[in-house]
Amino acid sequence: MSHVLSLRCKECSREYPVEALNVCDFCFGPLEVVYDLQAIAKSTSREKIASGPNSLWRYADFLPAEYNPAIDINAGFTPLIRSRGLAERLGLDELWIKNDSVNPSYSFKDRVVAVAAAKALELGFDTIACASTGNLACAVAAVAARSGMKSYVFIPSNLEAGKILGAAIYNPTMVAIDGSYDDVNRLCSEIADSYPWAFVNINVRPFYADGSKTLGYEVAEQLGWRAPDHAVAPSASGAMFTKIYQGLKEFEATGLISHVHTKMHSAQARGCSPIASAYEEGRFVIRPVKPSSLATSLAIGNPADGYYALKVIEASGGSAVIAEENEIADGVKLLAETEGIFTEGAGGVAITGLKHLVETGKIKRDESVVVYITGNGLKTTELVADVVNPVLIEPNVEAFEAAMAARAAK
Ligand SMILES: *Cc1c(COP(=O)(O)O)cnc(C)c1O
Ligand SMILES: [Zn+2]
Repeated sequence: MSHVLSLRCKECSREYPVEALNVCDFCFGPLEVVYDLQAIAKSTSREKIASGPNSLWRYADFLPAEYNPAIDINAGFTPLIRSRGLAERLGLDELWIKNDSVNPSYSFKDRVVAVAAAKALELGFDTIACASTGNLACAVAAVAARSGMKSYVFIPSNLEAGKILGAAIYNPTMVAIDGSYDDVNRLCSEIADSYPWAFVNINVRPFYADGSKTLGYEVAEQLGWRAPDHAVAPSASGAMFTKIYQGLKEFEATGLISHVHTKMHSAQARGCSPIASAYEEGRFVIRPVKPSSLATSLAIGNPADGYYALKVIEASGGSAVIAEENEIADGVKLLAETEGIFTEGAGGVAITGLKHLVETGKIKRDESVVVYITGNGLKTTELVADVVNPVLIEPNVEAFEAAMAARAAK
């Protein structure tokens, strides 16, 4: 049973019914879902969660929609891997990698869409849509295919081929826009006003955003019911980042884990760092930027939750960190070479950010760290195409041995 009380404005606290609403009529603040945490505390337990489905729906008590197996593509409950090679390389004793690149459509966006689509169906919608930097389009199209809903996905036309194909294969109506993500989002906000569709990250955004809380719950459960000392996550709109923290705090509030002391660190790329730049300059006002970054998943110049991400950084004692554009591919390669995990540009930003946090002493050797790897490298192969350099030989043993000898001599 859902424990949702209402929607509430994050700015003026005005309450709204649980409908497809995302903005306060009164002050234009964003709406968020309000839960009855006391009722959740009574209903939930470690045992109940542990015996639930191997997907994010094991946390259904904390989510705004009912579990609907008919539309479930099994998002979530991804591996939390104890790092060896990368930990050693960075000089950390306890580093964990939350590998969300292995979700069904290969990014963490499967979590937010799972929740948004389930809620959209409950609210009577037959069509889901999104404004996407790529991964969201893949997730919306995949869930629509599974659920029998119609889907419209809007993307900037300059996305990587792997993301476009990764969404198109599920046969959505795809609209590519000659502009940035921020242009796409503006257009979709207008379309959302006049079409009876659930735009997962616009009119049903409060429910969508709460899908990311499961990234906090899962890590706490997988660490043996505790929160880490540090969490490092890449940010675009900043929604996922704020919701990871909310997830940890809700586990604390309902008695599932004890005191949450986790310092939250947001990683952005130099070519689009409105949140991290505000942090560095000590501002709580986000200055929108025109994105130009290799980390296309993170290329949101006017982040809707940027201010709230900065508040989470402040409340948790965390920070924000910037990866230079020429460090992004290095971060991708470092993770691949040390852990056998192939991530996309956003993951390269997270790994580079983690590296900088260790180098600057913000994360200490003996502290526990979780780094969130949110997307899959096979969608952005352009970024690291230079690794392809096989030894080309004739099909005989002599040629092989000569080539190996030449290689060893180098
Ligand atoms: C969308 C996305 C993010 C960031 O999500 P926000 O909630 O908008 O901050 C991070 N990583 C990947 C791979 C993404 O696709
Ligand atoms: Zn308001």
